[in-house]
Amino acid sequence: MLEKEVKSTCSYCGVGCGVVVKKDARNRIEVEGDKNHPVNKGMLCSKGMNLDYVVNDTSDRILYPEMRWSRSHPRERVSWDDAMERAAGVFKSIIRKHGPDSVGIYVSGQCLTEEYYIANKLTKGFLGTNNIDTNSRLCMSSAVVGYKKTFGEDSVPVSYEDIELADCFLIAGANPAWCHPILFRRLEKHKEENPDVKIIVADPRKTDSANFADLHLQLIPGTDVILYHAIGRQLIKRGYVDKNFVKKHTEGFKEYRDKVMSLSLNQSAKLCGVPAGDIKKAATIIGRSKGFISMWAMGLNQSAVGSDKNFSLLNLSLVTGHVGKPGSGPFSLTGQPNAMGGREVGGMANLLAVHKDLANEEHRKEVAQYWGVEEISAKPGYTATEMFDALEEGKLKAVWIICTNPVVSMPNARQAERALKNAKFVVVQDISHKSDTVSYADLVLPAAGWLEKEGTMTNSERRISYLNKEIHPPGEARPDVEILCDFAKKMGFRGFNYNSTEEIYKEYAAMTKGTKIDISYLNYDRLKNEGTFQWPVPEYRHPGTPRLFEDKQFYTPSKKAIFNVPESVENTSAKPNEEYPLILTTGRIRDQWHTMTRTGKVARLKTHYPDPILEMNLVDAYLNHIKDGDVTEIKSPNGTVRVRAKVSENVREGVVFLPMHWGKKLKNDLNRANNLTHTKVDPISKEPDFKYTAVSVSRF
Ligand code: SF4
Repeated sequence: MLEKEVKSTCSYCGVGCGVVVKKDARNRIEVEGDKNHPVNKGMLCSKGMNLDYVVNDTSDRILYPEMRWSRSHPRERVSWDDAMERAAGVFKSIIRKHGPDSVGIYVSGQCLTEEYYIANKLTKGFLGTNNIDTNSRLCMSSAVVGYKKTFGEDSVPVSYEDIELADCFLIAGANPAWCHPILFRRLEKHKEENPDVKIIVADPRKTDSANFADLHLQLIPGTDVILYHAIGRQLIKRGYVDKNFVKKHTEGFKEYRDKVMSLSLNQSAKLCGVPAGDIKKAATIIGRSKGFISMWAMGLNQSAVGSDKNFSLLNLSLVTGHVGKPGSGPFSLTGQPNAMGGREVGGMANLLAVHKDLANEEHRKEVAQYWGVEEISAKPGYTATEMFDALEEGKLKAVWIICTNPVVSMPNARQAERALKNAKFVVVQDISHKSDTVSYADLVLPAAGWLEKEGTMTNSERRISYLNKEIHPPGEARPDVEILCDFAKKMGFRGFNYNSTEEIYKEYAAMTKGTKIDISYLNYDRLKNEGTFQWPVPEYRHPGTPRLFEDKQFYTPSKKAIFNVPESVENTSAKPNEEYPLILTTGRIRDQWHTMTRTGKVARLKTHYPDPILEMNLVDAYLNHIKDGDVTEIKSPNGTVRVRAKVSENVREGVVFLPMHWGKKLKNDLNRANNLTHTKVDPISKEPDFKYTAVSVSRF
């Protein structure tokens, strides 16, 4: 019998769809799309439609704290008090002996904003180290660099409502038809209703998004900068530059023009493997458009030159003046539900709360004063991959992992395993025993999941949602903020005596006053009663801000947007060679989410792809004597994967594709794509290079 009907937000991807949750007296739930929600208007994708299974099935949940006294003993159930005493005791002793930089916290884009805020305050303000980073480093940090260097702050200028106002889309290194499905449904509907709308997709794979496009630029992996420069060159040559915008509101156009003119169209076409005619066509479509939106995701960000790829794409919006007006602007698609919220509160090793910078002395002082601490260390913390390097090398002794599964998701997953084995103390705070990382924990802490705790999230378009607590967590599981505040108190830190999550939100919201992400006039009551808001919300009764930079006042010192021009257009990943002649790129499939700790337990979500497969081009399959369905062995200098081949023309010749979701627990060690990927990162964003690993493939 229905007991209650409440509104919430889907906890999977950064699209941020609204859901209506119907709960019965036994806490069993049903979920449907919220017809009145501005994002999804009632629609849900396969993952969202099956959220009820994940919540109703608690068979995999971690129910009570578990601890082991040494690696030779099994973990056993302990009380929360003993668990927290031990955690604080070990952290204090390690810090005393090796200094604060010997400990670190690794968080997740699925943490709520309040959780992110507390973890950041605890680490940077009180533990005295900047060793806090997030798995968002693995997906969005190159986009953050792009926005900061182009606009002066990490600020997404557009809204989903701009989709219906645009007539040209360039989808770069993303497959929103599978990975951001509701956003893509809006795009499909817009095109169906307006056949003149043009969609260009740049991707080495013929994805469902590419199949829907008017033009597919099937580039060679890693050559994105060359392709977008070639399009920029054509825009300039054909007179599609918005001269007024470029002159009044940008800096660096001359350097940009010189760079893009340095390669001829034919040279670029050859280097990126895209016909010159298609590059010309793309430039003409973009140049003639009245509203141009570029959308991108991991194909750009997860690269050894991810920042350069971002700059080269952002420059296309600047050269055409398509920023700060309806239906126009660059739009990074966030993978996780709250990757944006984490960035707002500074949950990365090089950031501080409210978009302040760790490298800026003034900013450090302001934040330290706000938190009532003497200082914040100037030393940058370890980023995600650096954290695992430091664990392996013994420089980092203790790590606290919250809501993420690094032994499946980190590049070179075997290194992540070695790192955790080498650590002196590993805390894993999670909801599910299905996380492979739990096996490496000395202390396991049961966390509350979606609907079991309250807080806020920000989606890809800066939209903040309030999520309510409707269900008691199973067993002794607790909200993450309570666990972290308890630990802080056991460490003897002041400033963590909150009576509610709302108090944490208020502390953060007050901190935003006067900044570019001001939400000081947005409180829980407004979020509960009026729905979602896009930041900034800087005044009393302010309705939120759907679009940034309409006044063309950017957040750089000169108030102008900057053309960032990469010195080299070369991809710096290790090239294929005789031993490893193919390029491996990894990514998502339609119905699974991250490392499958939630979606993996829903039978109907497994029917689309019951097992991982290697997508391979017909020609490469023929040359390697592989037939469709054969078991293949894929090798890189880091490891081996064995899965069946799916042979088609959907991937470019010379390229193979593996889904990133499977870990040891779900199948076996040989299904894990990150056995193969290497640890090279972009030098500015420190984002790993998941989209380019040289591999060999043979029939097993
Ligand atoms: Fe959830 Fe994303 Fe699907 Fe929307 S598109 S229902 S937010 S997984």
